[in-house]
Amino acid sequence: NERRGAGWNFDNSYAGLPETLYTKMSPAPVRAPKLVILNERLAQELGLNADALRDGDAADVFAGNRIPEGAEPLAQAYAGHQFGHFNRLGDGRALLLGEQITPKGERFDIQLKGSGRTPYSRGGDGRAALGPMLREYIISEAMHALGIPTTRSLAVAMTGQPIQREKELPGAVLTRVAASHIRVGTFQYAAAWGGDEELRALVDYTLRRHYPEAAATVEANGKISDDEGGSALLLLREAIRRQAKLIAQWQLAGFIHGVMNTDNMALSGETIDYGPCAFMDVYDPATVFSSIDSQGRYAYGNQPQIALWNLARLAETLLPLLADEEKKAISVAEGALGEFGERYHGHWLTGMRAKLGMFGEEEQDEELVQDLLVLMQKHRADYTNTFRALTMDAPEGTPFHDAEEFRHWQERWRQRLERQPASREEALLLMRSSNPAVIPRNHRVEEALEAASERGDYSVMERLLAVLAQPYAYTPEQASYCALPEPAGRPYRTFCGT
Ligand code: AMP
Ligand code: MG
Ligand code: MG
Repeated sequence: NERRGAGWNFDNSYAGLPETLYTKMSPAPVRAPKLVILNERLAQELGLNADALRDGDAADVFAGNRIPEGAEPLAQAYAGHQFGHFNRLGDGRALLLGEQITPKGERFDIQLKGSGRTPYSRGGDGRAALGPMLREYIISEAMHALGIPTTRSLAVAMTGQPIQREKELPGAVLTRVAASHIRVGTFQYAAAWGGDEELRALVDYTLRRHYPEAAATVEANGKISDDEGGSALLLLREAIRRQAKLIAQWQLAGFIHGVMNTDNMALSGETIDYGPCAFMDVYDPATVFSSIDSQGRYAYGNQPQIALWNLARLAETLLPLLADEEKKAISVAEGALGEFGERYHGHWLTGMRAKLGMFGEEEQDEELVQDLLVLMQKHRADYTNTFRALTMDAPEGTPFHDAEEFRHWQERWRQRLERQPASREEALLLMRSSNPAVIPRNHRVEEALEAASERGDYSVMERLLAVLAQPYAYTPEQASYCALPEPAGRPYRTFCGT
C-alpha cells in the first residue's frame, strides 16, 4: 500500500547526532487503533496522499503500531527549567519517527505524542488522553491560520486503551509536525550531560537546519564546528530574534502559552507544546488559565520577560563556545540578550499599529495604543472582540462605547488616521488582516472536545476547525463563534500533562 503512494519520504538526520542526545526505540503497540481525524491539507503540503493513507494503514501508523518505511524512531533527550526548577527530562510520551522531506525539499519532524513509555518517562505512563490531543490539534491549527509560527497537527488516532487519570479516559496519539523539536532544553541537556562535542554538534546541526543563511556565512570562512565563537553567537542571536517576533505575535493575538518552561521553547521559533494554553478574553495582563500556575509566572503580561529568561538559559549553555575567557563570553551573551527587548517592542508596536489601521509612525502612537488597552482593562472588555468591533467600524460593539473617555480616545484615533495619506478603506483593510474575527474561544473548544470524546461526534470539531481556518474572513457565519460564553461561576481553568 505504502509503495503505491502514501508518500512517506523520511530522512533521519537527528539520528546522526551524538547518541547521548536520544534513544532509538519503537512505539509501544496499542490494542485497537482507530484514526479519528486526519489533516488532509497538511498531508498534501507534506507530500502525503491522504486517500492512500486512509485506504492503507493510517490507523496503524498514527497509533504507533506500524513504522512507516524509512523512519528510524527515537526518543529525544532534553532538560528544562520547569517553573524555574531545572530537571532532566526527555520525550517521556513521544517519539520522533523521523523527518519527512516534502516535495519542495523542506524538512519536518513527524512526532507521535502519546506513543508509550520511554527511558525518559520517569513515573509517567507515556500515554495521552483523547481530549487534550484534540485540543492541541484545534489550537495549533488555529495558530497556524492566524499566521503565528507553530508546530502543526497531522492526525489523531485512538489507541483503544483507556488511561487512568482522575477518571478513566480514552487514550490517543497525536501526530505532530514541527520544523524540529530542538528546544532550549535540548541545549541544556547537551551542556549538562554531554560534553563539548555534543554541544558543538548540536549548535552546528541547529544552525544548518534552522538558520541556513547564517550557517552559509560561517561556512564561507571554514567548517562551522571549527569556528570560534561565531557560530554559537549567530545561533543565539537568531534564536533571540525569532522569539522576540514570536512572543510579540502571541501578545498581539492574546495567546497565553501557559507553560513556558525552557523545554517548551523551540529553537525554530515555532510555538510548541499546547498544554494549558488559552486565548485571553477580557484584556488583563495578569490573566492566567493554567491550574498549576498559582504564582502567575506565565501570565499573559509576563510572557516577554519569561522568554528573555529562557533565552538567558540558552545563552548560559553556549558560554563555553562564545569565547575562550568566561568573562568575555558573558559579555558577548549579554550583548545578544540585550537586543531582545527592543526587537520585541518593535514587533509589538508595528503589530499594534496595524491592528489600529495606522500606517507610518508617529511619536504618540504607543500612547494611543496603551490608552486603548487601559480602557479595555478598566471596562473588562474582550480583547479580540474590541479590535473586531473597531475593524467593523462598529464601536457600539464595545462595552465602553458610551464612556466619555472612549469618545475622546476615538477622536484622537480618528485624527491620527486622517493625518496619514492612506484612505479609510485602506486602513480598515489593514485592520482586517491584523485583527482576527475568530479565535478558539475556550467554551467553543470545550464544546467540540466534549462532542468528540464523549459522543464520538466529530462534526462540532470539524465545523469549528473550518471557521478557525479563516480567522480574517469576517463572514456572517462566523459571528456566532465570536460570542462570549455566559458568565461562568468560576474562571476557566486549563490543565497540563493529561
Ligand atoms: P510537558 O508538561 O508536556 O511539557 O511535559 C513535561 C515532561 O513530562 C516531558 O518530559 C514529558 O515527556 C513528560 N510527560 C508528560 N506527560 C507524561 C506521561 N503521561 N508519561 C510520561 N511522561 C510524561
Ligand atoms: Mg542514546
Ligand atoms: Mg513539553
